[in-house]
Amino acid sequence: MKPEVEKIIDKDRKYVIHGWGYSSTIFVEGRGTIVKDLQGREYIDCMSGSAGPMSLGYANPRVLEAVRKQMTLPHVFHGYVNIPRVELAEKVARISPRGLTKSWFGCGGGDANETALKAAMKYTKKKEVISLYDAYHGMTIGLQALMQPRLREGLPIIPGFRQIPPAYCYRCYYGQDYPGCDYECARALETTIKHETYGDVAAFILEPIQGQAGHVYPPDQEYAKIVRETCEKYGIVVVADEVQTGFGRTGKMWACEYIGLKPDIITAGKIVGGGFPLSIAIMRDDIAENVFRGQDPMFWWHSLTHGGAPFACAIGSAVLDYMLEIGSMELAERMGEYFIRRCNELKNKHQIIGDVRGPGLYTALELVKDRETKEKATDEALKVVKNCFERGVIFGLSLQAGIGNVIKTKPPFTITQSEAKRAIDILDDALENAK
Ligand code: PMP
Repeated sequence: MKPEVEKIIDKDRKYVIHGWGYSSTIFVEGRGTIVKDLQGREYIDCMSGSAGPMSLGYANPRVLEAVRKQMTLPHVFHGYVNIPRVELAEKVARISPRGLTKSWFGCGGGDANETALKAAMKYTKKKEVISLYDAYHGMTIGLQALMQPRLREGLPIIPGFRQIPPAYCYRCYYGQDYPGCDYECARALETTIKHETYGDVAAFILEPIQGQAGHVYPPDQEYAKIVRETCEKYGIVVVADEVQTGFGRTGKMWACEYIGLKPDIITAGKIVGGGFPLSIAIMRDDIAENVFRGQDPMFWWHSLTHGGAPFACAIGSAVLDYMLEIGSMELAERMGEYFIRRCNELKNKHQIIGDVRGPGLYTALELVKDRETKEKATDEALKVVKNCFERGVIFGLSLQAGIGNVIKTKPPFTITQSEAKRAIDILDDALENAK
């Protein structure tokens, strides 16, 4: 390692607090699907940065142009009307499920989810929240109470925040087989409401397709139907966390469409800022009106200094325009089919692959030591991902405790056929060497 590289790493260790995971690789530039490190090595980024922000590729000219244009007014106090925010909000309303017309803008997925839950609580005048096991919603103390207990060690439990099992058919929590299970996981929502809450449930928050949990999603649309009916019966707001899946990742604009879920609020992040901090909570007008009402200063209580900044919203608009122009959903579907086909071929070849999941350009391989026992091949998955990285392909690994055996890909929509082929060929080799 060159001495100047070592120096940066030393300073990093001394002064910087890292988040998830650690790697001493120093990336310095990117173009399209390719990122380059300080040593000049190139990588195909099959994760679009941190699971999505770079979905339009690095150095996207349209994003860069939007940044340059808006730089004379990057920020205004959020109380003012700001044109890029109005324009983006109108565009978001147009692409959102019917009835979801009003947007709140933040900086990250976590703050959008906090906003959604606050909105649900204010609207319903209730305080309890239900989420799914192994969910990932963000790193605030409130949201961590809805995620894995391991992630909130040392933090308080929020009274009234509870979790139910997701629709994880490959490892059904109820030991059932689909079909024929009568959607016990969906029905668990009502059982929990009846037997574990005080009848004070404001929101059910779910990722339509769980990202960090390893691409876990219901087998058909009946799950969403049961969940929706239950929420309507008990006056509960359905919050769909689409921070990973929104804006076309699954081949549909929203993964809610994929699983057939009718949400009251959708949250989005990652992709929407094209690499810049931007998130959205899109909700029904009547919910928004109860929470963020007009000019009354008493209702001006929910905002972030940088939330909805003109520069971020101008970028958001450019991202959305460009996505629609290039037909990103069709690209996600087409390239997604390629990834799934190749991954299924790998499954036929490598016994270590227990399950292949999509949808769209959102593929996951679950590795197992034995297909019968389904014992998780966690060390092997880490070895495969590391090996691919050393050979210039970035894949993701579910890092949450007890999961680590799911290899994930969510490359930019603009990944080329030859980049995709090269990435999967290297994965094939790495799986061969993982035995
Ligand atoms: N929801 C989901 C589904 C996510 O994957 C993430 C980030 N991994 C978040 C919320 C939190 O987003 P952020 O890190 O931008 O706060």
